Amino acid sequence: MSLLSLWQSWTHGAGAECPDAVLSPPPARPDARHARQLCHDLKVLATLIEVYCARRHPTAAKEVVTLKTHDVAALHGRPLRLCPPGRKLLTHAFVKRAACPLDPKPMCKKCPQHCYAPLYRAQIREVMRYSGRRLVLSGRLDYLVHLLI
Ligand SMILES: [Zn+2]
Repeated sequence: MSLLSLWQSWTHGAGAECPDAVLSPPPARPDARHARQLCHDLKVLATLIEVYCARRHPTAAKEVVTLKTHDVAALHGRPLRLCPPGRKLLTHAFVKRAACPLDPKPMCKKCPQHCYAPLYRAQIREVMRYSGRRLVLSGRLDYLVHLLI
């Protein structure tokens, strides 16, 4: 899949309602806005890591990501295929984002609670820088607002 079609599919899908089934188990706060923001952030994380993995690890063996806590394919709109380190990072990122106790969630880089483990924090920062640069170039900076670490 080309980057352009990736962005188009992402842009097209970003405003869609997030099916309840995607968020399983339900978030601690049954607040609809909170659930939408969480869903949105998880979609963005999935796409950022997908872009990074596709461009930086083109020859790595990739497998479809499956999590017990979230239906990643439903959230992402299609199966998400990542290399082994990419799958670990995505799992960590999803767990941490879903467990964030702050509402509204601040931008990660301004957050007093650095919840990522140091290794994953370094990795996600690299992913944000790499994939974020492409977002800026494609005019989709708004997607990053709540996530920049
Ligand atoms: Zn990768």
